[in-house]
Amino acid sequence: MRPKHVPIRTCVACRTSGDKRGLLRVVRDSEGIVHFDPTGKANGRGAYVCANESCISLAEKKHSLGRSLKATPEASLFEELRSHCIGSAVTSRTESEA
Ligand SMILES: [Zn+2]
Repeated sequence: MRPKHVPIRTCVACRTSGDKRGLLRVVRDSEGIVHFDPTGKANGRGAYVCANESCISLAEKKHSLGRSLKATPEASLFEELRSHCIGSAVTSRTESEA
């Protein structure tokens, strides 16, 4: 039996919480390496960010993940997260496509 405890997942960028599937998990492993956790089950300190470009960019810009995890993610992490973005068809405003 497991207690009905549902961990609250809050996006580090927009602070929206909920267990909807749109959140990507990032974990800091025992070596202090920050990486994307596609399974959502990796051990370590975890943080979440919405699977959309704006939140990923915001998290990168504001170093939200690094602060949350107390470790510095590499730039490649954000590239990886972007590759897992949910289609941005609903995005009303696109900033730039650098
Ligand atoms: Zn978000």
